[in-house]
Amino acid sequence: MSQRIYFHGETGRCQILIDDSMSQLSACLAGQEIIIITDDNVNRLYNQLFPPARDIIILQSGEGTKTLLTVESIYRQLLCVSADRSTFILGIGGGVVSDITGFVASTFMRGLRFGFVPTTLLAQVDAAIGGKNGVNLNGFKNMIGVVNQPDFVLIDFSFLKTLPAKELANGFSEIIKCAAIASRDLFELLEEESEQALRLDNDLLRRIVGETVRIKTAIVSLDEKDRGQRKKLNFGHTFAHALEKAYRITHGEAVSLGMILAANLSVKKNMLEAAEASRIRKLLQMFGLPVSMKFDRDKIVEPIHQDKKKSGQMIDFVLLRSIGEASVERLRFSEVGEAIDDLCES
Ligand code: ADP
Ligand code: ZN
Repeated sequence: MSQRIYFHGETGRCQILIDDSMSQLSACLAGQEIIIITDDNVNRLYNQLFPPARDIIILQSGEGTKTLLTVESIYRQLLCVSADRSTFILGIGGGVVSDITGFVASTFMRGLRFGFVPTTLLAQVDAAIGGKNGVNLNGFKNMIGVVNQPDFVLIDFSFLKTLPAKELANGFSEIIKCAAIASRDLFELLEEESEQALRLDNDLLRRIVGETVRIKTAIVSLDEKDRGQRKKLNFGHTFAHALEKAYRITHGEAVSLGMILAANLSVKKNMLEAAEASRIRKLLQMFGLPVSMKFDRDKIVEPIHQDKKKSGQMIDFVLLRSIGEASVERLRFSEVGEAIDDLCES
């Protein structure tokens, strides 16, 4: 029996099914005519599980595909197969596929209905949840996009068996982020059961992913359009985005380092006990995520200075009061710069 989480937002309603969800796919589609968007890897591995479709659009895998050029080529393919307002678009794949699918479906003919089958842990807990869909521009992540909810998200853990370890760690990085900002219980569960989780124990994944999805949907439903509360989900992300732009590291690795920076800064501001910051560091290490890195501070500080969240010499930054409780603080940019220098030298 899958768990169901219902999300009702200003931008629509979404049903999220967790565990054994593929068995529910045909019921969710209810006989509608569909077009599938996927990527080459997922198509190679899982094509036999795809439901009957009018067409399958196969993207090249990788973040480089998340561009307006790809979006336009998909619009053309949709025209070619005479997609219309009654066509349902199903995205089967990782975060790249769900971001593109949501954006294309929300804009083609001013919006078709759509749903996601996320096949990476990162997409299951993050990209496919919350209704943000978009593409990159000039290397800036998610610059162009819409907030719009899919009809459903079907989370099935059986896809994770073929996922490379690095991609799995990527997902755990966002899970640890959600625990750090909103759930001490989830954090403790991860501390106690890290090995089982990495072995993809199904019952444990149900609890971990279920809780993470509940945290994300609860925060998003308070603030779907990203005006205040939703900023908490950016914990570790200001620094992460700058690192990702300058170095070839994954999103999860960058977020891990960003969380270390933010935890250190929280300790420095006397908001968080040093022992709590150490627990965060340890947990990230248990999941194979990096907690230190050599980097050129100038490559990182300048982009953060230009970050869209900055106003004047101040920057909104997510800090922790304790494990499980975050707060958005307006900091002097120089304080953030100093914390980056400390991390650079550590
Ligand atoms: P994200 O990590 O944001 O979900 P991607 O969509 O780029 O990002 O997915 C990461 C990589 O994993 C891509 O190369 C994709 O083709 C591949 N992938 C997606 N799902 C699976 C899966 N279930 N098994 C193996 N590889 C997968
Ligand atoms: Zn993220």
